Amino acid sequence: MRDVDPVKVTPVEVRAPVGATVFEITFADGFVSRIDNELLRGYCPCAGCQGHSGEIRFVPGGNSVIGHIEEVGSYALQLTWGDGHASGIYTFRYFRALGEYAAWSRENPDAPRQVMPRAMT
Ligand SMILES: [Zn+2]
Repeated sequence: MRDVDPVKVTPVEVRAPVGATVFEITFADGFVSRIDNELLRGYCPCAGCQGHSGEIRFVPGGNSVIGHIEEVGSYALQLTWGDGHASGIYTFRYFRALGEYAAWSRENPDAPRQVMPRAMT
């Protein structure tokens, strides 16, 4: 795993109110990951969505309602989606990477969906 500044992957607040379509995490350095639920679901890192390759691709069309959020140790969150899919473990490092990508993507709406290296999770 590449070294990353711990401050950049330490969450201080998670916001995912019922009915919201955007998931937000504020990190200790002040950066806010604002990730559309649809994007978050499409980049679900689990083997069921991604197979076992070293890359994570955007898989469109999944249910994008967040039903439940569970902490996994101090390093990740497990999201349960409205269709019951719950095998994706999202590390805070991955939330950070997705948040940075989401911000870039809003500036570049015509760009094809990026492939995420597995090392980001
Ligand atoms: Zn999945």
